[in-house]
Amino acid sequence: MRRKISDATSRPIQLFLFGESALAGRSCTDPAERLNASLDQLVRAPIRVILTDNRSSMITVKRLQNRSFQVRLHRIFAQAEPATLAALARFIRRPDRKNRKAMGDFIARHLERIREKPARKRALPLAVRGKVYHLGEILEQVKQAYQIPAPEVRISWGQRRGKRKFRAIRLGSFDEEQKLIRVHPLLDRKQVPRFFVEYIVYHELLHAVVPEARAAGGRRASHTREFKRREKLFARYREAYAFEKRFVEERWSRRGS
Ligand SMILES: [Zn+2]
Repeated sequence: MRRKISDATSRPIQLFLFGESALAGRSCTDPAERLNASLDQLVRAPIRVILTDNRSSMITVKRLQNRSFQVRLHRIFAQAEPATLAALARFIRRPDRKNRKAMGDFIARHLERIREKPARKRALPLAVRGKVYHLGEILEQVKQAYQIPAPEVRISWGQRRGKRKFRAIRLGSFDEEQKLIRVHPLLDRKQVPRFFVEYIVYHELLHAVVPEARAAGGRRASHTREFKRREKLFARYREAYAFEKRFVEERWSRRGS
């Protein structure tokens, strides 16, 4: 009756949309890990999710040994709602026409967001100097204070984007491909203490130097035990942690009113 997918083994299944690929990056809050956890459950098989900015191949499913999968996904899937994740899980198990269509629909709904990206990425000059904080200075200072030689790492204030819910905001990120730390422009204001910006920069800088762990099944973990140990070496770690919590809560309550 139903065709089994198992004979389609090592050949990757891909959905092509555009004619070129962009840079792959990794973010700090690790949406890949979250996706991984959801998909593991839905597919009921070990899955290794890799998020990319690759627009030419939005989804690539590769069946590995031990009935596990490697799934390369465009970053937009990090924002997929549960129904889409369920459809994605079905697509991974069986990439038939119906499941393929569900994926196509989701991608179509997010087309605009995908299209915005590359131009910005390529042409954008680094915004090192903010209104209040000079990120170049802060990066140098943090590197010296904690003796982290990372000459290749660059830094920039992120782009202000229109109406985005605070929920989706990342205060900092590290793009491994570009070796670029981005700090959210929300932090470029006097109400945000300098040590907190230093802390965000320090955290992202650690991503450049502390290796990721690969757990069984190939899952990626960036906030490893070693990472957390080193993060706590930040001089005002507790204060920074407390500030972040307050800051986020405040933004949340303002949103609700
Ligand atoms: Zn992080």
